[in-house]
Amino acid sequence: MNRVHNFSAGPAILPVEVLKKATEGLLEYKNKGRSIAEMSHRSPEYEAIDQQAKSRLTELLGLGDDFKIMFLQGGASSQFMMAPYNFLREDQTADYIDTGRWSNKAIKEAKLFGNVHRPYSSSDSGYDRVPENHELDLSDDPVYVHFTSNNTVAGTQFPSEPETDGVPLVCDASSDFLSRPIDASRYGIIYAGAQKNVGPAGVTIVIIRKDFLNRANTENVPTILQYQTHTEKIFNTPPAFNVYMVNLVLGWIQDKGGLAHFKQYNEEKAGLLYDEIDKDDFYRGAVEKDSRSIMNATFRLPSEELEQQFLEEAEEHDLYTLKGHRSVGGIRASMYNACPRESVETLVNFMDDFRAQNG
Ligand code: PLP
Repeated sequence: MNRVHNFSAGPAILPVEVLKKATEGLLEYKNKGRSIAEMSHRSPEYEAIDQQAKSRLTELLGLGDDFKIMFLQGGASSQFMMAPYNFLREDQTADYIDTGRWSNKAIKEAKLFGNVHRPYSSSDSGYDRVPENHELDLSDDPVYVHFTSNNTVAGTQFPSEPETDGVPLVCDASSDFLSRPIDASRYGIIYAGAQKNVGPAGVTIVIIRKDFLNRANTENVPTILQYQTHTEKIFNTPPAFNVYMVNLVLGWIQDKGGLAHFKQYNEEKAGLLYDEIDKDDFYRGAVEKDSRSIMNATFRLPSEELEQQFLEEAEEHDLYTLKGHRSVGGIRASMYNACPRESVETLVNFMDDFRAQNG
């Protein structure tokens, strides 16, 4: 198999070891004469997968006994609705830090349920940064503070959890989930679509703090949209094959050394690329240095024509999916956990040559 260097923002590259194992499980799971995709989600085999994935997440994130984990459908986008549906009442306020496209989509949904206060927005500067703690203007009594830990489109990332005076965080961690350790005790909810760092698209991981869950509003919330429904048991048919693959990725993350390992690995990869960008002004980083993401590096070239040429020539070197998000243009290199260092090195060498020929 000749795998290309895949910089897709999502669905993104998966570890080749995991793909190989999943191919076996797809054909026949543990000599059972059936694929894992052909088994009941009430079977002992699937229940073991579900439990193992949850205990691996608990260990990787240091969750202890304080959290419940769910594997849901509907994407991170459905969490934009489900979180406020469960936790924000008409007469209440939730604070939403506005750092870009995905925060905005979350804000739009939350407004359907209650008041939304923006303690910070970088919209005036084209979402080129995330706030420092002293810039947060929190409301008096928010039920939670929502933030997007990594902004996939702009290429910014919170260096650590925002300070909220004890108010629980609700976090869209879709594009940096399991890329580095977090302080779990700060969160009420962490949610992430799997398709960047933990598996194929189709399953959404939702982690909720038990004491936060106790505050959930169940009145007039449809059964399937209540978090309680999914924390008590497997309510309806889960995306079983996807959870199986997520579990394989979680095992792979553990084998490699867990989140501390990936923090270092991801910082090293991003460092290589940002050093190349910063060498002179041929490439220009699209966001402020202190806010740069180690997952999605965004940058510009001197003209849109050169950017187009860059993308075309990159593919000739097996460097794929480097085009920036359609709403902002430019170049975006996504370097999630499974992106090998060699891919970033190949990209950096290509960028060096491209500059020498066109600078
Ligand atoms: N949030 C972030 C930060 C994302 O990057 C994305 C998708 O790229 C989403 C939410 C939407 O996720 P989904 O397509 O799973 O609804």
